[in-house]
Amino acid sequence: MVAKCLSSTVDGVRDRGWVHHIPRLMILGNFALQHAWDPRALTDWFATAFVDGFAWVMPVNVIGMSQHADGGVIATKPYASGGAYLNRMTDYCKPCEFNPKKRLGDDACPFTAGYWAFVHRHREMLALNHRTARQVSSMNRLSDLEQVLEQERQREVY
Ligand code: SF4
Repeated sequence: MVAKCLSSTVDGVRDRGWVHHIPRLMILGNFALQHAWDPRALTDWFATAFVDGFAWVMPVNVIGMSQHADGGVIATKPYASGGAYLNRMTDYCKPCEFNPKKRLGDDACPFTAGYWAFVHRHREMLALNHRTARQVSSMNRLSDLEQVLEQERQREVY
């Protein structure tokens, strides 16, 4: 199985050295955030992989806006989202083998399940932010949370 959003976006970077700001943030940045990638290493990757990866703009865009690794100076909440949001904002989900509505199972969307794993990992910090506290409450009501977390710990297919 292949995450259509991720593969199409990575293909775009490989073939053109460029994708629009939204896939950079919503797909590449979101994926890195969900998987706790190192913000400095990610900034270096964006700076070298993109034709417009100017050194003066990448730290603000990647560390601040995309990864929320500046302590919230640029953005008031982390730019993390699940498959439902990607489905609303892009055309990738319809032809995708994963299901953006599913968080558990073979066709569970890695962004949807990954989102809940992200919220769980940062639950204490997110609960203190009035813009994200509700997501922590929603996570606490998920009856299958432990299974979702275990699934994402084991995930090898994206
Ligand atoms: S279903 Fe999930 S993995 Fe597939 S395109 Fe949509 S957001 Fe991406």
